[in-house]
Amino acid sequence: MAGVSRLQYSNEIRLIRVMCSGRVDLAFILRAFHNGMDGVLIGGCYLDECKYTTHGNYHALNMVLLGKRIMEHIGLNPERLRIEFMSSSEGGRFADTVNDLVNKVRTIGPFGKGEGIDENELRAKLDEMMKLVPYMKIAKRDKLSSRLKDPKEWSKLFTRDEVETLLREVPSYYIDPEKCQACMTCARRCPADAILSGKNLIHIIDQEKCIKCGTCLEVCPPRFSAVLKLMGEAPPPPIPEEKRKIVRKGREEGSSKQN
Ligand code: SF4
Ligand code: SF4
Repeated sequence: MAGVSRLQYSNEIRLIRVMCSGRVDLAFILRAFHNGMDGVLIGGCYLDECKYTTHGNYHALNMVLLGKRIMEHIGLNPERLRIEFMSSSEGGRFADTVNDLVNKVRTIGPFGKGEGIDENELRAKLDEMMKLVPYMKIAKRDKLSSRLKDPKEWSKLFTRDEVETLLREVPSYYIDPEKCQACMTCARRCPADAILSGKNLIHIIDQEKCIKCGTCLEVCPPRFSAVLKLMGEAPPPPIPEEKRKIVRKGREEGSSKQN
């Protein structure tokens, strides 16, 4: 409606249309900043006016609230990120919101520079946070499905301490080579393709690819219990390739009988 009504608003924005504000994942927000955007605005329908049954706008709100805390953790001004609820007929509200955010971001300054953070350091931190999005979404799934109507409650959904703890206590997953029986269940279920698999080969987690979802721990059969969750310690180095082969007891005996 802003366009149809020929309302003036800043041309420094890039609009990306999505079917629902609930489609805007935390990873998209961080990626926009990683790509050099100075600010991000998410426009969604008014809360409780979802045309469907999904109420994705609450999801978008919760993502933004978590995103703001992550920005604080990195040292960024959280006001670079904003969510506003409006209807498609409110062109004036849209134009005002865009202009207001653009002015706000101008006073903060270019991304990172306004906060005095080194560009390379900032990119490394954003990379790290983007990798941890699946972990954060799993760890905070209950809160991310909250439906807080009162704006006074929003800033309390995620506290600074809570997010600091969340990021301090990132687990690592490790497959115990003594216990792994190469059943391949974990490799088939890993959503990040982070497990080096192979028939009769002890499985290894590629720590660079692992997104800390914990699925391997959940699916490893209890009789093997080969996956360990490590807190506050680095996982041991992977076993050498030549030691990965599992020699089954029965087969060993069978082959010696034949000999
Ligand atoms: S925690 Fe396990 S299942 Fe999840 S990404 Fe890492 S290796 Fe894959
Ligand atoms: S599910 Fe457990 S036993 Fe099976 S391959 Fe993975 S770590 Fe090994």
